[in-house]
Amino acid sequence: MANADSLSETAAPSLPRLADFHRIVIKIGSSLLIDGDSVRREWLASVAADIAALHARGAEVLVVSSGSVALGRRVLGLPGGALKLEDSQAAAAVGQIALARTWAEVLGDAGMVAGQILVTYGDTEERRRYLNARATIGRLLALKAVPVLNENDSVATSEIRFGDNDRLAARIATMASADLLVLLSDVAGLYTAPPASDPDASLIPVVPRITAEIESMAGGAASILSRGGMRTKIEAAKIATTGGAHMIIADGRVLHPIQRLNDGAACTWFLSPSNPVTARKKWIAGSIEPRGTVFVDAGAARAIQAGNSLLPAGVLRIEGPFKRGDCVLIRLEEDGEIGRGLVAYSADKAAQIIGRKSHEIETVLGAPGRAELIHRDDMVLAGD
Ligand code: GLU
Repeated sequence: MANADSLSETAAPSLPRLADFHRIVIKIGSSLLIDGDSVRREWLASVAADIAALHARGAEVLVVSSGSVALGRRVLGLPGGALKLEDSQAAAAVGQIALARTWAEVLGDAGMVAGQILVTYGDTEERRRYLNARATIGRLLALKAVPVLNENDSVATSEIRFGDNDRLAARIATMASADLLVLLSDVAGLYTAPPASDPDASLIPVVPRITAEIESMAGGAASILSRGGMRTKIEAAKIATTGGAHMIIADGRVLHPIQRLNDGAACTWFLSPSNPVTARKKWIAGSIEPRGTVFVDAGAARAIQAGNSLLPAGVLRIEGPFKRGDCVLIRLEEDGEIGRGLVAYSADKAAQIIGRKSHEIETVLGAPGRAELIHRDDMVLAGD
């Protein structure tokens, strides 16, 4: 078994600081949020104050909050222990109302606006729905609101759900191109062995790469309220770091848990070898089968090479069929491929708006639509 020192020595000098991050996802588990029968208001207010401090320095924050099932089961008087699927769905339906109200209040008291988004597995895994959720999150952040997310437990079925918010939060972090995911937990981080049963267990400050040895250090779920445990946290770390986000597991039981991390509290860092933009571009470049082609004029080619989105006005013709969210090639008629990206319109809609100014889209299609045919974040250029 490796000891914590040998693992930390190699990467310790380059340990990042919280102040380095711009878009941060904070995951809060049920056992932190709820104490006995009620929400821990004072603690939540301290988290809201920490989020306000991140906002004040210009960072964007998303919250992934558990607690709907735990809150709802109490209101409905359901028994303790594992619930049947339909009971946990009923509990989630009741508890999510209280959870959303709580977040709106505590963030509101700290001068911020909360926006609730409930997602299903499909919303994060299917490209078209993924683009929708991603766009909504982006807009909320641009409006300085705090998206508060949870799994839509009352409609998720057992086969197609995350079930734990650790992995959900990691998918949200990737989807939102966050550069940091913080899992607030009831343990201070990853230990060399389960700290409850092994007095020699020591905290690992940094995991530069998730090896089989790291995976073997994760035991099962630790408390009855949290579905996660260390195993799903390691799974989350794989998802987040592959998507270009660093991840922290930290003790959330204290007041002002984020502020304390800022001040250097002990935790475990999982480092990503990449960053969100590179990771996303690699994903677009490598793993997606192009479904069509958009031929652009020289002006549009120059604009996208200068880092802009592709607007319908600069497109001469398209070859489909493709659906919204599909990957398409971007070409100059004579010069071949200059890039590829995820297209925001289906081929028949795209055919109607090409050559038009973005402000004409609503008139042409009869409904408002996105100004870009391919957003710059969804595009990878041949030279990238
Ligand atoms: N989505 C579940 C809830 O809000 C929690 C899942 C988890 O604890 O990880 O109750």
